[in-house]
Amino acid sequence: MGFCRSWLDSANGRDCDFPLNNLPYGVFSVGDGDLRCGVAIGDRIVDATGLEAAGLLRADPDADVLDAPYWNDFMELGRNAWSRYRAALTAMLADGVDEVVQDAIIIHSVPMAEAVLHLPFRVSEFTDFYSSRHHATNVGTMFRGAENALPPNWLHIPIGYNGRASSVVVSGTPITRPHGQIKGPGDDAPRFAPSARFDIELELGAIIGQASDRPISVAEAFENIFGYVILNDWSARDVQAWEYQPLGPFQAKATATTISPWIVTAAALEPFRTSTPARAEPLLDYLNEPGPMLYDIALEVGLSPDGGTETLICQTNYNEMYFSAAQQLAHHTSSGCPMRVGDLLGSGTISGPEKHNRGSLLELSWGGKEPLTLDTGEIRCFVEDRDTLVLRGHAQGDGYRIGFGSCVGTVRPASQ
Ligand code: CA
Repeated sequence: MGFCRSWLDSANGRDCDFPLNNLPYGVFSVGDGDLRCGVAIGDRIVDATGLEAAGLLRADPDADVLDAPYWNDFMELGRNAWSRYRAALTAMLADGVDEVVQDAIIIHSVPMAEAVLHLPFRVSEFTDFYSSRHHATNVGTMFRGAENALPPNWLHIPIGYNGRASSVVVSGTPITRPHGQIKGPGDDAPRFAPSARFDIELELGAIIGQASDRPISVAEAFENIFGYVILNDWSARDVQAWEYQPLGPFQAKATATTISPWIVTAAALEPFRTSTPARAEPLLDYLNEPGPMLYDIALEVGLSPDGGTETLICQTNYNEMYFSAAQQLAHHTSSGCPMRVGDLLGSGTISGPEKHNRGSLLELSWGGKEPLTLDTGEIRCFVEDRDTLVLRGHAQGDGYRIGFGSCVGTVRPASQ
């Protein structure tokens, strides 16, 4: 699909994250006003709640679904309603539409610069996977040696754990360095202290748009995914190293999970579908993809020390994943595990083959042994207090891009 021109000029720049082809869904407020559902276009946010209330654009003819500070009720309507709504909104914003429509949109929209963005959906449950082969290999090599890097199940199962929905916060929320129980290799006894190896994990989050209460196929799973956000799974490595056996991550991952504020829909990403890499081992039938279900999404991480300029510390791509979100979701439901609208599935840290493709500081500094030198001259092994981490991503079209916006977090010192 080619570039779609809008009558709103700010949506037509080659580097604009939010052209007409994108139309991501978020929740915003202005001043002391209510939280409202909005759609990003160029440098503005269309007030979807207002358009619905005015009867100008309705997702459901019989019920208000956008009179809430989240998109869950809209997602509940299902795929046909999602498509109809997107088509109708696209028509209203397309170049050449009647000026009466343009005037209505201007009335029911605000400049993005004046808005505060909130969590775009109510997070029902949060599951985090571990599906980048390069990431799993890097981490496994550090902890178990190169010969035992990948656990024996890894090529067969999208490994995951049940996280905490309550940990999910929107981009911009300050992150306080966590305390935890820590016991290093040279320590005689564990101690309770602020994490000294606080880290990021660059991930993509898939948002489940349809509930299920039985095992579903990979194809059905793909259809049930409403959209994607960029996700930072903040991780306390020293806490993780001491606590993770035998049941996996717990407090090391419970502090916060930051997501970008705009849900980029599966519909907008459709032209960027790509296949998972060749299988090193054949998959069991229920995990085979009937077609390309991954996406080509360029991702990067910037680190800015307090008051300092940003250094780009990672550039990678979602197409590096070994398992797609559809495979993860199919596996998740294979036990009969029920899914709800608003469930969030983290991809797992996205790393590629080269050093600069690594999506965590643990890998970038090789466990702290190979410190990074920032453009400011400062050294980093892990995240320092007052560092700001910015995760970004976009799918590159011909003359346009489908941007995710930014997933930002600044780390505050541990509380006393
Ligand atoms: Ca993770």
